[in-house]
Amino acid sequence: MRIDLHTHSRVSDGTQTPTDLVRAAADAGLDVVAITDHDITAGWAEAAEAAEDAGIGLVRGIEISTRYRGSAVHLLAYLPDPDDPMLVAELGRILEGRGARVPAMLARLRALGHPGATEEALAEVAGDTEATGRPHVADLLVRLGAVTDRDEAFRRFLSAGGPAYVDRYAADLTDMIGIVTRARGVPVVAHPWGRGSADVLDRSAFAVLKEAGLFGVEVDHLDHDPEQRARLREIAADLDLVVTGSSDHHGTGKTDHDLGCHTTDPEQLARIIARAAELGSPTSVVGAAP
Ligand code: AMP
Ligand code: ZN
Ligand code: FE
Ligand code: FE
Repeated sequence: MRIDLHTHSRVSDGTQTPTDLVRAAADAGLDVVAITDHDITAGWAEAAEAAEDAGIGLVRGIEISTRYRGSAVHLLAYLPDPDDPMLVAELGRILEGRGARVPAMLARLRALGHPGATEEALAEVAGDTEATGRPHVADLLVRLGAVTDRDEAFRRFLSAGGPAYVDRYAADLTDMIGIVTRARGVPVVAHPWGRGSADVLDRSAFAVLKEAGLFGVEVDHLDHDPEQRARLREIAADLDLVVTGSSDHHGTGKTDHDLGCHTTDPEQLARIIARAAELGSPTSVVGAAP
């Protein structure tokens, strides 16, 4: 059984519709895929319909933007109640923050000599997403001929500290673990040692987060080298945290992150599903489950 627990659609910064994402997952031979768009559940319904049609299992989730001791940390929330008022309110604040920084980023790019960096032009590449992110701005720079791909746009303009980088609101990680759990979802830290979070998320931090309700850690991810994976696996075993793996697929938006390039053990997914049931989650797994 092949399970990929972290992917993105056009509802955030992936490049496929939820339907195309789920079909591609089935074509890639996956038995279960999770849709985990950034800070939003708007793709869930379409993905669920596509999963029923394709005969593949679907885990509905979210990848939530949080902060821990000043560093950005992504928190995967599996099977929460999408209508939980606290969760809805906090995701709303994050989405508002995403929207609010867009004009500032575009203004910086215009000042850097890219007059085509306007909100109208951005809307053409980003479509109608409510979760606008730097990858959409990157796509605009590609269209303007300023860079060849998202990667170059991040390297030259958009990475933290880059000339067009603008910070945005993110929820506190510990608070968000509580909010997800009260929404009867299962919190799992995404790629904890990718993108510079390694220094803040050490063993003692994981121990504290476990006390706050953290249930798992994403270990098998392209951002982690073999040594990091081995160390994370040890920490997870020590603290009895679930271990997951995923592609973090973004369609054509991220190279090498092919669907199923990393996967999650069925037993680990079974623990996540059992935890959601124990919490009384109204969100089920669509179709086949381990
Ligand atoms: P934002 O959500 O606006 O903070 O942008 C972060 C998103 O950009 C995350 O989903 C990352 O996966 C993506 N990202 C970061 N670096 C790159 C890169 N070099 N190429 C493509 N996507 C990236
Ligand atoms: Zn993304
Ligand atoms: Fe992430
Ligand atoms: Fe992701």
